[in-house]
Amino acid sequence: MPSKMALVDYKKCHPEKCDSGVCAAALACSHKLLKQEAPYEIPMTDPFLCRGCGDCVRACSLKAIDIVTM
Ligand code: SF4
Ligand code: SF4
Repeated sequence: MPSKMALVDYKKCHPEKCDSGVCAAALACSHKLLKQEAPYEIPMTDPFLCRGCGDCVRACSLKAIDIVTM
């Protein structure tokens, strides 16, 4: 069965343009499946647990996250 997940587009993601380098999209994931190790780092999704709800997509002002179907 196809499943959806969030994928960060590393060409579009610029943490330095986000407030204090903190990923708003990571904060928006209530399941904490989009993780940013430290401010100014590029966030990473958990491909096994992310269900592609899209909350992170809506929170990223640079549109750096897409929902993809695997
Ligand atoms: S995913 Fe979006 S909100 Fe998060 S660090 Fe990248 S550009 Fe900023
Ligand atoms: S799609 Fe939903 S579950 Fe997946 S990382 Fe984004 S906010 Fe979290």
